[in-house]
This record gives sequence, C-alpha cells and structure tokens, in this order.
Amino acid sequence: MKAKIIDGKNIAEKIRQDLKSKTSKLKEKPGLAVVLVGDNPASQVYVNMKEKKCKEIGFYSKKIILPEDTEEEKLLGIIDELNQDSKIHGMLVQLPLPKHISESLIIDAILPYKDADGFHPINMGNMLIGKNIILPATPKGVIKLIESTGIKLEGKHAVIVGRSNIVGKPVSILLQQKNCTVTMCHSRSKPLEKYTKEADILVVAIGKPRAITKDMVKKGAVVIDVGTNKVYDKLVGDVEEEAREVAGYITPVPGGVGPMTIACLLENTLECMELQKRTRL
Ligand code: NDP
Repeated sequence: MKAKIIDGKNIAEKIRQDLKSKTSKLKEKPGLAVVLVGDNPASQVYVNMKEKKCKEIGFYSKKIILPEDTEEEKLLGIIDELNQDSKIHGMLVQLPLPKHISESLIIDAILPYKDADGFHPINMGNMLIGKNIILPATPKGVIKLIESTGIKLEGKHAVIVGRSNIVGKPVSILLQQKNCTVTMCHSRSKPLEKYTKEADILVVAIGKPRAITKDMVKKGAVVIDVGTNKVYDKLVGDVEEEAREVAGYITPVPGGVGPMTIACLLENTLECMELQKRTRL
C-alpha cells in the first residue's frame, strides 16, 4: 500500500483564495502586523513569507524589524502601539526571541483579540474549555489536514508525539473535542513505538529528523508530520519518507503543515477583525 499524500500546499491555497474573495467584499482591509527581533535567518524567511501572503490576498500588512539588542521595554511599547492601532486587527511577534526578552511577558502583552497566533493564555484557556475563539495557527492547520482526508474522527485513537504549548498540547485538546481518544507522548515515553504503532492518527512534532521510522507506524494510519528540520540544507520532517509504504495518508515536508500554518494565521487575522467589529472593540 502506498499512502495518499495530503497536499497542504493545495489546501492552504484554497483557504487563501477564499480569504481573498471575502476581503475583496469588505470596506476595510484586515491588517496583520509582524514583529521580528534580531536576524535569525529562518525567522526572516517566515516573516517575509507572512508579509508576502498577506499582500497577495489584499490584507494590510505591517512588518517591524528590530535589532537583536532591543530592550524588553521598547518591544512592550511597540506592542502597545499596535494594540491601539485601528488598522491592525491581528499581530504576532516572531519566536524565538533573544534570551534577554521574556516570551511569555511579550505574548501576555498582546490584546487577546489581536492575538493572530492564538498563543495568549486567554485564547489557550478558552480552547481548553471548548470555546474556540482564536485557535493557535499550526494546530488549527493540523486539524484541517486530518479532516481533509474525509475519515471519521469519532472514536479514533490519536497519538500525539511532542507536548509543546504551541503544537502538541493544543492538537491534543482539539482532537479530544473531535471525540478522538488521545494519547500524549514526549521524550520520556518509552518505548515510543509501543504508542505510535497503536495510532489511527499520528501527529508528530518533536523536531528530530526522521525519528519516526516506518516500523513505528500502524498500517493505514493518518500521519501528520509537523517537524521541520534542516539536514544538509534540505528540509526534512520528523517522520522518515519510507513511512509512506505503511501509512494510509501522510503529509509531506515541505508542503504539508508549513503552508497551513500561514493560511490559518491569515484566517485568524480576519476572525480577529470580525470579533472586534462584533464586540465593538
Ligand atoms: P519543542 O522543542 O517545543 O517540543 C518538542 C517536544 O518533543 C517536547 O515535548 C519533547 O519532549 C518532545 N520530544 C523531543 N524529542 C523526542 C523524542 N525523541 N521522542 C519523543 N518526544 C520527543 O518543539 P515544537 O513543538 O515547537 O516544534 C516541534 C517541531 O515542529 C520542530 O521541528 C518545529 O520546527 C516544527 N514546527 C513546525 C511548524 C510549521 O508550521 N510547520 C510550526 C511549529 C513547529 P519533552 O517535553 O519531554 O522535552
């Protein structure tokens, strides 16, 4: 059996086209601000890509680049200005931040209804109690990719490998909401294959190139590979390519979760704007 490839690029393109069509009918453009501190090359690529995709669909976009030695107070001041800026409906501060700046302090400073990444504790807490207002972009994309297969999620055993706040944990909550039975794995889950082999749906977000081998995957499983690792200038996932011989559906790297994260970020920006209009914020 050869797995069907879940084409994240194509699904993301459809989301962007839908957003573009909705935006063309609006009097006011949704606005996204992206703040980058420092000159991390990967972060620069992500920020430029977000700006480009914003412009393509007719959103207003603002990019703020700050030097590596920017003081925390200065960054907080910029967030405050963006919080007050009526042209900005959503914003994000690209992570990771330089060591002298507290990421949690910065995320807390973004108004929850302008939090396009969905990382603010209020948005996370809402999701935990089933109020899905602004969802974190990557987990939202992961769910859309799983749903694109058309498989019934109810009663399925989902195994998540990785428990970060931005990927693993929220994915586990969203899959529970879809009535999956969820098992969470992390670096202390041994032997890992005991769990992964039981998964009807396997989501891997660990940042370890090709750590999940084909013999760790259940026949016919839906496999979502969130990992993005640079190996000799090539982008590879956390799941080895040979897993395609066993899985039923699988996402490629690149071209799977990555494009969905940006599409969901843009969708969140429009949702932030609608939320602000609805509640007259
Ligand atoms: P973190 O480093 O924050 O978390 C990694 C998690 O994986 C931890 O929970 C850790 O366990 C677990 N882990 C590490 N090694 C193993 C192992 N050998 N076996 C089992 N579990 C393990 O990572 P992120 O969630 O931020 O990112 C994960 C990957 O996803 C990265 O490659 C990142 O680049 C990618 N990513 C891609 C995105 C996209 O849009 N395509 C968006 C976000 C992330 P423990 O808690 O015990 O330490």
